[in-house]
Amino acid sequence: MDKPGWISKKFYKDNEMEKLLDENLLNTVCEAANCPNKWECFRKKTATFMILGNKCTRACRFCSVDKNIRGENLNSNEPVKIAEVVKKIRLKHVVITSVTRDDLEDEGAIHFKRTIEEIRRISDATIEVLIPDFNGKKELIDIVIDAKPEVISHNIETVENLHKRIKPIGSYENSIELLNYVKERDKNIITKSGIMLGFGESIDELAESIEDLKDINCDILTMGQYLRPSEKHIKVSEYITDEKFVMYKKLALEIGIPVVESGRFIRSSYNAIDSIKKLMK
Ligand code: SF4
Ligand code: SF4
Repeated sequence: MDKPGWISKKFYKDNEMEKLLDENLLNTVCEAANCPNKWECFRKKTATFMILGNKCTRACRFCSVDKNIRGENLNSNEPVKIAEVVKKIRLKHVVITSVTRDDLEDEGAIHFKRTIEEIRRISDATIEVLIPDFNGKKELIDIVIDAKPEVISHNIETVENLHKRIKPIGSYENSIELLNYVKERDKNIITKSGIMLGFGESIDELAESIEDLKDINCDILTMGQYLRPSEKHIKVSEYITDEKFVMYKKLALEIGIPVVESGRFIRSSYNAIDSIKKLMK
């Protein structure tokens, strides 16, 4: 399906932010996933840091992150470097995410914990972690919960029916159970999830997924358009119109998700701080 003209976005470059990230050898998902909001977020001095390297041990069919089944060496200094940059650019809210590291014994849970702790040590920023599924291992999820980030996010990515096709490794049930477990363990942690639209999901399937998130008391839901990173990735089945995004937002609010962000350029970390403020109102 050809990309319509209205799906592109104006870019405003921020070379200073890029320089700072390059100098500190830090990865951002903004760059790795070629996010359409990149320059807008950089201009606002916001970024989502990607820890645990920039090669993933999985191969989701929508994702542009490089794959390496054996993973990479860990940069043990990464948590300190991220904290220093967060402090330097005076972020008020920081999002930390990662590739999936099925090759590591702790799947990267301790690195998440260390990153949260280092940021806490030198900055007042609120912290949001967008975590992998840790293969459903509760003892690993506990390590992240016990570090007490303000927000734990995990994207279900798509509706149940399409999940296996889009994410060959991992399961819809694991993702829902992870978010459920976080809320049960610590009700003060805000839980958040994201769904990409345009894979061919029906409105009934979407409504069912939103119901699933409501049933586990998920606080924030983001819905955005899937954009195909390259010819090798899964095709876009539908470019969702603005009217539909408005309708889907209304649907999710009616089902009972407290805060919903829905729009063609919405990504799970876009305007993340605003979502939290809405929840606090
Ligand atoms: Fe980065 Fe998230 Fe903004 Fe995209 S939406 S540029 S990933 S902070
Ligand atoms: Fe991309 Fe995450 Fe899938 Fe890895 S697990 S391929 S980073 S979406």
